[in-house]
Amino acid sequence: MNQSPEKTLLEVKDLRVAYGKVEALTGINLTLKEGQLVTVIGSNGAGKTTLLSAIMGVLPSKGSIHFDGNDFVSPDIETLVANGLGLVPEKRELFTTMSVQDNLQLGAFQRYKRGDRSYDQTLAEIYSLFPRLWERRQQQAGTLSGGERQMLAIGRAMMGNLKLLMLDEPSLGLAPLITREIFRIFADLRRQGVSILLVEQNARAALKVADYAYVLEGGKVAMQGPAEDIANDPRVIEAYLGLASKHQELLSS
Ligand code: ATP
Repeated sequence: MNQSPEKTLLEVKDLRVAYGKVEALTGINLTLKEGQLVTVIGSNGAGKTTLLSAIMGVLPSKGSIHFDGNDFVSPDIETLVANGLGLVPEKRELFTTMSVQDNLQLGAFQRYKRGDRSYDQTLAEIYSLFPRLWERRQQQAGTLSGGERQMLAIGRAMMGNLKLLMLDEPSLGLAPLITREIFRIFADLRRQGVSILLVEQNARAALKVADYAYVLEGGKVAMQGPAEDIANDPRVIEAYLGLASKHQELLSS
């Protein structure tokens, strides 16, 4: 599914993050090529959220981040957003008392500040991707269902004219059917030229849509490879896809 397998969009080298004296990430290396969907799976506390926050510049880190031709050491969030990086955090963080449409328009704030006035076109694209958001454009974000909130959070990030969308556990708290709907949208996003870095505890569903996968354990990359190989690895099957996660089959069937 790679559109341009040669070009590296994101390269993280020796990324380290500590909370006080406790190291949460101890030297992560990760690469994502343009057009790819890369997933990072791992159990609770493995460091997945920390990884996305550090790449986004929300958390101070050591090491280097190369994104779309630029090198960032201790990246700052505003520069990264301006360069086409977006994060949908686990908590979605919507403006709950504002309408769906206002939430989406706020996602284009950085573009507006730069004098880019082409966001109406992006808004139309997002509404065609998520007809449910169009139907509910005047509704308060706080009254949306869980799946609709996730769609709005993704749509809002997309308003930034993204090259790379990072998602932190988009399936969290969603019913299996809604999760499948959200995961199907990833294919549409990729057709529009957006690459995706997907952090998930739902390993089964994530490995099914991804090109390449990293398994994070205790702040380190324990395994990596093409998603299909990782999904067939006996250690992964035992730890992440075994009986304990049997219910996840529903999500990926
Ligand atoms: P989950 O799947 O449960 O969200 P995760 O893989 O996203 O887990 P992180 O949230 O990145 O894991 O946490 C990695 C480690 O860092 C954990 O041991 C966690 O307790 C610790 N940690 C995270 N945030 C902080 C913080 N603000 N202060 C101190 N320790 C933290």
